[in-house]
Amino acid sequence: MLGVVYNGPWDVKVQDKKIDLTILPDEVLIKVKMTGICGTDLNIITGKYEAALPGTILGHETVGEVIQIGESVPNLQVGERVVVDPTYYCGHCRFCRTNRKNHCESKTQLETGVSSDGAFTNYHKTKYSFLYKLPDNLSYEVATLTEPLSCVLTGIKCLTLHTAMNIVVIGGGPMGLLYSLALAAKGYSGVVVENQINRQHLVKDVIDPKWRLATNLKGTLDVFDGTGTQIDVVIDTSGCAVHDYLHHLSRGGQVLSIALKQQVVGIDLGWIADESISFYGSIDSLNNSFNEALALLANGAIPGSKLITHKLPVRNFHQAVKLLGLSLEDKAFRACDAAIKILVQPEGEENEA
Ligand SMILES: [Zn+2]
Ligand SMILES: [Zn+2]
Repeated sequence: MLGVVYNGPWDVKVQDKKIDLTILPDEVLIKVKMTGICGTDLNIITGKYEAALPGTILGHETVGEVIQIGESVPNLQVGERVVVDPTYYCGHCRFCRTNRKNHCESKTQLETGVSSDGAFTNYHKTKYSFLYKLPDNLSYEVATLTEPLSCVLTGIKCLTLHTAMNIVVIGGGPMGLLYSLALAAKGYSGVVVENQINRQHLVKDVIDPKWRLATNLKGTLDVFDGTGTQIDVVIDTSGCAVHDYLHHLSRGGQVLSIALKQQVVGIDLGWIADESISFYGSIDSLNNSFNEALALLANGAIPGSKLITHKLPVRNFHQAVKLLGLSLEDKAFRACDAAIKILVQPEGEENEA
């Protein structure tokens, strides 16, 4: 099967890889329909996300059709449309039993598209408990956003929000946009900060009418002018900008960091105590946020199709990542002003809607 194989940093090839498609009694085989390219995929390719195992097929934001079910699968039928929860958990380790399934001790060896074969190919098999049926009115295309949206909803649950708060989302990439759309769907408004001028037209088209777009800290504070110009909540999806914003955090302010980038900032612990500041980090999804994500996409509360700018066949994977700013030929990662979410379609599935 033709798949996108990670062989090591900057070494990703669209190549044939044999995969054992035999399923266990509790497993399901799906025919992949389409799979979104995620920032994590780009971090894997550039060597920044070291959990990836060489030889693995990448791709984890995936949807498909059930084509075979194991004998003990109780809830799925052949022909059903499903989305995959790619974050493996065992259910019985210390982390799983203390409501931290996203940090399961077995995850590092079994994470779909990172350390076990993912979905930038034709078929994918997984345990039935990691599959969710798609509502009839939800397209495969929009359903590819279920996993990133479920991570966003998990992050939002860390925060204590109020509709009168000044909320800032840093970064106008897919995650920043999903944060702003999910918050808008829940009745909150705020500012998305995107400092690349060339990318702003993309962001403008997607954000909710109640949300504002700023290019920098000053522009952000200007939006809040008259409310004390203080920021109550910072959600940093970029991993680069949070430090400047800390100086403008209000008392009781909250910071949520979700970028998988190394950035060290000095923080005064006395300030954290004296001003009741809270810091949160969030990765992957928890607490039934997959079901909530499916509902928000299916009922149109989140206009998922606005984020999907391209669909490309798997054999054009190098071109797809180039649209996202990553050039494999010269091993360079540049600012991206051409795309938001790109979906990859397996060989033979190019015409699926
Ligand atoms: Zn992802
Ligand atoms: Zn576990």
